[in-house]
Amino acid sequence: MPSPIGHSLAALAVGWGVAGVATGRSGALRQAAILAAVGVAPDLDLLIGRHSLETHSVGAAVLVASVAAWQRWPVATSRRVIWTAVALAWLSHPLADALSIDTSSPYGVMALWPVSSGEIYTGWDVFGPISRRYWLDNFWYINLTSLVREVAILLPIATLVWWGRRPRT
Ligand SMILES: [Zn+2]
Repeated sequence: MPSPIGHSLAALAVGWGVAGVATGRSGALRQAAILAAVGVAPDLDLLIGRHSLETHSVGAAVLVASVAAWQRWPVATSRRVIWTAVALAWLSHPLADALSIDTSSPYGVMALWPVSSGEIYTGWDVFGPISRRYWLDNFWYINLTSLVREVAILLPIATLVWWGRRPRT
């Protein structure tokens, strides 16, 4: 599972790809803050002890995107685009998790909930593991190397999407 920074970058790339970068400095900042928050939010499940389960799923993405479109979160102007951008930004999270080494049970993500509660885990090592075992000696080493790797992969992608989708006057 990538860190919050990696999840933010992935959600920004996906959200900008769908909705384009919002116009105006404050509009663009607000849009970026919402997209990044949507990308990180599935991991709030750590607080309730249900990590990588329902929040890491298509079902959760549909729910959150529907609220976003209904409430017109300032991600895009049309409800259809808001829904799509938020749903895909949310889904970028379980996708990135599924492409990473998972070091704690349950392995993988419950991506197809509520259709299926099976855990999806590729075992691929695209993004490194993030350790929450802060009491271990290797905590900083694991997390820093994973952070460098995910930024090296995702920052160029997010930058390219931003460049291609920035508003032009
Ligand atoms: Zn996660």
